[in-house]
Amino acid sequence: VDLRQAIDVGELELHLQPQFTLAHGQPVGMEALLRWTHRTRGPVSPARFIPIAESSGMIAEIGNWVLREAARIWSRWRSEGLVPLPIAVNLSAVQFQAPDFLHEVGRVLSEFDLPAGALEMELTEGTLMANTDAAVETLHQLVGKGIQIAIDDFGTGYSSLSYLRRFPVSKLKIDRSFVLDLGKHGNEGAEAIASAVIAMAKSLKLRVIAEGVETAEQRDFLKDHGCDEVQGYLYARPMSVEAATALLAATQPQGDMA
Ligand code: C2E
Ligand code: CA
Ligand code: CA
Repeated sequence: VDLRQAIDVGELELHLQPQFTLAHGQPVGMEALLRWTHRTRGPVSPARFIPIAESSGMIAEIGNWVLREAARIWSRWRSEGLVPLPIAVNLSAVQFQAPDFLHEVGRVLSEFDLPAGALEMELTEGTLMANTDAAVETLHQLVGKGIQIAIDDFGTGYSSLSYLRRFPVSKLKIDRSFVLDLGKHGNEGAEAIASAVIAMAKSLKLRVIAEGVETAEQRDFLKDHGCDEVQGYLYARPMSVEAATALLAATQPQGDMA
């Protein structure tokens, strides 16, 4: 119920968590993570309110707000003369399957005049495997609009490998639950899954990113196994748009001045 007013009274906010190349520690993207600060209860975790938004039918409106806000941030970076990084937004299944979803995406892209590559979308295996033919079609439409697709929480769901080949995805995201156990004794299972996902991504020519990287041991394991990108507290926490903008400004690629 309070969620219904959260947008209108400005209680929602996006935070951004940078993603880095593992080889050079260069920022290559930012994931948008939704934050809700309730006026009396304080911060509410998205893990709690997203499911409520989904079951109450509010997720489409909230998801559209997230999309528009991400587009606004990206275009602000551009207008400030920065070289923007792609912003990845999380999509809920309900939002992805909504009849006017593609229309809304198109509207936001043209409203902010976003070029191809400005936005990415993170979807879980569950979202993609429900109604796969329709999902394949929607993904192709998104890719046609210049949006890159990542499969989130990869390894936790049920993926059909033959569908994986049909999906126009560019990135797999190894779930934090596997990353958590890397480099610890007695957790060979997680290591086997992580290295299998990396190897599979390589052979399918997909980029692969690990989320929730917190320790040097995890980083070293991922590096040794050829993971492309990392995201996690070891590198950077989710941060305010202001802080993310400062990070972007501090890490701008050096233009060729010669
Ligand atoms: P997710 O997409 O798997 O996002 C990663 C979560 O891990 C985020 O939690 C992030 O803050 C947290 N995280 C990042 N690095 C680390 C780390 O090194 N260690 C640990 N322990 N955690 C780390 P957060 O922000 O609470 O979001 C939870 C979930 O809520 C997200 O999981 C995503 O499924 C959902 N969510 C967040 N924002 C949105 C949104 O705009 N739309 C939708 N549909 N879902 C969202
Ligand atoms: Ca995500
Ligand atoms: Ca996850």
